[in-house]
Amino acid sequence: MARYTNASCRLCRREAQKLFLKGERCYSPKCALEKRNYPPGQHGLGRKKVSDYGLQLREKQKAKRFYGLLETQFRNTFDKAAKKKGLTGENLLVMLETRMDNVVFRMGFASSRKEARQLVMHGHFLVNGRKLDIPSAEVKPGSVVKVKARSQSSPKFKEIKEMSISVPAWITVDVEKLEGNVIALPRREDIDTPIAEHLIVELYSK
Ligand code: SF4
Repeated sequence: MARYTNASCRLCRREAQKLFLKGERCYSPKCALEKRNYPPGQHGLGRKKVSDYGLQLREKQKAKRFYGLLETQFRNTFDKAAKKKGLTGENLLVMLETRMDNVVFRMGFASSRKEARQLVMHGHFLVNGRKLDIPSAEVKPGSVVKVKARSQSSPKFKEIKEMSISVPAWITVDVEKLEGNVIALPRREDIDTPIAEHLIVELYSK
């Protein structure tokens, strides 16, 4: 599966926004954006004027990078969102939020979406009692996501049992059981990702 392999922090610097791609480091003074809050590259400090198209493009890039998708995956998700009833931008965000890798991250079972994707691909989770190792799979309301019994004794998950985890309103988590429930689809106000989705809709509507 294709994935982005260059330095993650460059992406945050390009978007001038923390994308939280590196887990705990993102919350520490070691965060590259804390030290160099300007775009990477030799013209980083020189770029100033941004056109409407530039703004729309940056918003799309930011959303794509937040959720760790490549261009084709992101465009396909947008096309599916456009076919659903309701507002395309909101549909897009809901579809991104209910991806398996994002749900695992939101439940606190991984420190970043990147780590969540890896844990999912390594088969550490069951959804409604069945193994699910596809990061892009949609997790529907009513689904129970659980760390596999054999994985629960690993140091990674033992550590999580000691943590206090805060989750968004559409999710509940039982840390002791390493189990979470998707109780509803997220509403727009439940999604804290700083994305102006209307700019993405405008970009793709050209
Ligand atoms: Fe982004 Fe995290 Fe790197 Fe900071 S440490 S620049 S938030 S990936």
